[in-house]
Amino acid sequence: MKKYNVRADKRLGQHFLVDTRPLMAMLEAAKLSPQDEVLEIGPGLGVLTTELCSRASRVVAVEKDRQLIPILEDLTRDFKNICILEADVLKLDMEKLRKDHFNGGFKVVANLPYYITSPIIMKIIENRHLIPLAVLMVQKEVAQRLTAEPGTKDYGILSIAVNMYADVNMVCTIGKEAFLPPPKVESAVVQIMLRQKPREEVDDEAFFFKVVEAAFGERRKTVRNSLSRRLKIQGSDSEAIDQALKETGIDPMRRGETLSIKEYAELSKVLKCKISE
Ligand code: SAM
Repeated sequence: MKKYNVRADKRLGQHFLVDTRPLMAMLEAAKLSPQDEVLEIGPGLGVLTTELCSRASRVVAVEKDRQLIPILEDLTRDFKNICILEADVLKLDMEKLRKDHFNGGFKVVANLPYYITSPIIMKIIENRHLIPLAVLMVQKEVAQRLTAEPGTKDYGILSIAVNMYADVNMVCTIGKEAFLPPPKVESAVVQIMLRQKPREEVDDEAFFFKVVEAAFGERRKTVRNSLSRRLKIQGSDSEAIDQALKETGIDPMRRGETLSIKEYAELSKVLKCKISE
């Protein structure tokens, strides 16, 4: 930072890694082979980028901060397998990125800017046909939500949305002092292995998520009451909901946050049939 006279821009979530332990943990979790192609989001000052370049066949690094681009180019000048793009990752078309820069699917490795963690994770999930694996540094609370079991305080819509399409491992937790400047929150590395098929088959995934959202809409309320009040779909009246809960063997007095993905899948399948009848 001194050499290039860089000041961290907190609005862009700039907290640069200054500890090799998390770096090595991320590289190990990414299981890189020399054939692998990698997208790095937010390369910053390139600590992860150069390690990725020496392990993978190709690295595309997407950085939003224009002032960092010439610095990154200088820091990676010894590598021929790097492409640095100045862009906002949320605006990137992943299909186009693949076509323009990669030969096949690509892994994502990133120390994320925390202010856009959820949209980036959802973008990875939506593009799982292109991305077999993502290794991400996230806020510890997000890592806990991604790996939460039903009935725990961290279990929520994000847990379900991600675990429907991926297997998530908590790799390690990282203290604030591993970054410069240190962030306000603790961090963790997660390994997200994308599934080609969802964890549970449902005919209508949009309806499945409507049921999940409605059930979580009123935390601490019973699943029966939350669905009756929140599920605004024609035909999904209290009677249909009661019958669907009965048929799936789900106690209507349970809270929405205690149902597993499997139970939500069964409930949404049966409810959908009732509504269509
Ligand atoms: N990879 C570096 C490291 O580990 O030291 C920097 C990580 S820092 C937590 C996050 C990086 O993401 C910063 O370089 C920041 O400028 C960049 N960034 C922030 N918003 C972005 C966006 N929308 N698209 C791409 N990069 C972004």
